[in-house]
Amino acid sequence: MTIEPAPICGKHQVSKEWRPITFEYSDEGISIRVPDVYAWVCPKSGEASFPPETVDELITTVRDLLEAAKRARERRSVLTQYVISVGQPGVSATQIRAA
Ligand SMILES: [Zn+2]
Repeated sequence: MTIEPAPICGKHQVSKEWRPITFEYSDEGISIRVPDVYAWVCPKSGEASFPPETVDELITTVRDLLEAAKRARERRSVLTQYVISVGQPGVSATQIRAA
């Protein structure tokens, strides 16, 4: 991934930092956490903005995981948490939690 010059936070007038964060999403009682996602982060507020390709990837991933979690809930699975990794174990782990 190419790193462009750091964007400036318009609100706080400081350079954003390129660093990994944990992306979290929840919908209809299902929460999804994706650790180690690189984003531009405002050091003042912690607000993260993702490059367009990361946004696309997150949307696709969240949609797929929500479907899987909803199916598990429909069949009243006793399993309520899953950790899924792609590639190197522990490096990019994705976690879903069904309420
Ligand atoms: Zn800011």
